[in-house]
Amino acid sequence: MSTSRSAAPFDRHALADFRALAAHIDGNGPRYTSYPTADRFHTAFGEDAYLAALDACAHAAPSAPLSLYLHIPFCDNICYYCGCNKIITRDHGRSSRYVDYLAREMALVAARLGERRSVMQSHWGGGTPTFLDPDEMRRVMAALGEHFDLLPEGEHAIEIDPRTVDAARMTLLRELGFNRISLGVQDFHPEVQQAIHRVQPFAQTRDAVFAARRLGFRSISMDLIYGLPHQTTARFQETLDRVVALLPNRISVYSYAHLPHVFKPQRRIDTAALPAPAEKLDILVSTIERLTSEGYVYIGMDHFALPDDDLARAQRDGRLQRNFQGYATHAGYDQLGFGVSAIGAIAGCYVQNARTLDEYYDALDAGRLPITRGFQMSADDDLRKTVIGALMCNGTLDLAQIEARFDIDFAQTFDAELRNLDALATQGLVRRDAARIEVTALGRLLVRRIAMVFDRYLREAEPVPLRYSRVV
Ligand code: SF4
Repeated sequence: MSTSRSAAPFDRHALADFRALAAHIDGNGPRYTSYPTADRFHTAFGEDAYLAALDACAHAAPSAPLSLYLHIPFCDNICYYCGCNKIITRDHGRSSRYVDYLAREMALVAARLGERRSVMQSHWGGGTPTFLDPDEMRRVMAALGEHFDLLPEGEHAIEIDPRTVDAARMTLLRELGFNRISLGVQDFHPEVQQAIHRVQPFAQTRDAVFAARRLGFRSISMDLIYGLPHQTTARFQETLDRVVALLPNRISVYSYAHLPHVFKPQRRIDTAALPAPAEKLDILVSTIERLTSEGYVYIGMDHFALPDDDLARAQRDGRLQRNFQGYATHAGYDQLGFGVSAIGAIAGCYVQNARTLDEYYDALDAGRLPITRGFQMSADDDLRKTVIGALMCNGTLDLAQIEARFDIDFAQTFDAELRNLDALATQGLVRRDAARIEVTALGRLLVRRIAMVFDRYLREAEPVPLRYSRVV
């Protein structure tokens, strides 16, 4: 575990401009963990299309490593802020059945791929992956090992609810081959924790971090949320005091979007207790100031990392990419998704599984892959994905490189986009000349707004407003 903390504080002028601009430009918008965004996936893309994508993946590069995502949807308790696809239950029998079906899905996909494939990156998300008991986790790993080779030099990550793990469980995770953990924290203040129905004593989180470090996990991430009920700037700083004392390699600080009409559990949150927009903005700005002055690199959007973390290195080297887990260093591989609602990205296609257990089980009982929707990318989608990815990840776009790779004239292809970009340039978000587009320090704080300029589907659906509130 390195303790390198030599990053520079974030540009103070940019933060001041951000405060001033926030009332006029909404920095929300798609997170572009995929392009096109998942709301463009459609049901006309079905099992046959998925099978064809698997065949293309098998034939194009049969020995190329893969990336895997496994979704474990179960949780013991509901967190009121939650917008994930999860199933709240105390019945652990349900997860045992689910593990059987996960194994069946893996067998179907692996059979279609033919060759036994190696896996450079895997991620278990949820829900709460650690809802599974030790035996269930071993069964999932055994099923994975039956069909795939998880490379020891790869990244193998699992999301952990610290309330569900003890020292023995942490040891098991390491033994199973995980080398990265991501801990859900949100906020350490007791009043905030009660209001979101997630009471999680600091000691539980601290013990999980200490155990992970003792066991040699390569990277520890912590997820926080700002904008929760009863949060104030001062209180959130107290949470940050405790977080930085634990020195996680990566910290994510997500904005809470209060959408009770979309996410039922949020109806249990007292709207009057939410921080006012000005306070919420202040929490964000003071968090960026604090974490960067503590030596964390601001990677982009919600993510911070220590300077010697792989994410920060990849960004310095211009290798950072986006995938469904956010920023990634290994995003170039085809990704298989297993489990309810899991998304994969294979051979230029996105595929998403059924969202409910019944649909998922019915498809597998019938010997079908449980896909319900997907998307086949066009050459234009690929081009825009590359442009958006470069701007979001590395803050710069080399126009000649794009022209050579996609055989286009950038100015002609993106005539309308460049005019929109110039409007953002007058507000100080970007700079451009004939050779490149650069995202400024201010633009990094509003990078989704810049990316939206290149989102063709958004442009065709509606003119992009300066204030934007859709959450994707
Ligand atoms: S926030 Fe995580 S742990 Fe809480 S209910 Fe949602 S998925 Fe489960």
